Amino acid sequence: MSIAVKVRKNPYRALLLKKREELLASVKAEPDVLDASTRTPDEVELAAKAVEQDVAAVTVSLRSRMLREVEKSLKRIADGTYGVCEGCGEEISANRLKAIPWTQFCLICQELRSQN
Ligand SMILES: [Zn+2]
Repeated sequence: MSIAVKVRKNPYRALLLKKREELLASVKAEPDVLDASTRTPDEVELAAKAVEQDVAAVTVSLRSRMLREVEKSLKRIADGTYGVCEGCGEEISANRLKAIPWTQFCLICQELRSQN
């Protein structure tokens, strides 16, 4: 299968594109905070959960971080590295990707990182 076909067939791509649109629409109102320099996966996941419930409840800063995670994930789909943990190189479980399609880490590495 060619990479282009794989990219099109990635089931998470549509989710990520949709999320990117939502986030773009929500951060457009306040573009001055797009340069949030630090990011913690913890906060990104909290933001993800909050977005499911109410976009307005999430701070613009967290949304812009999430947006970058989403864009990074889309790039990883194009590169063919999507779904591989950046921490340990293992595959991230499908359940985790379904819950948080833009995650870059498996559950174990995520937990290790949030302890630091
Ligand atoms: Zn890992």
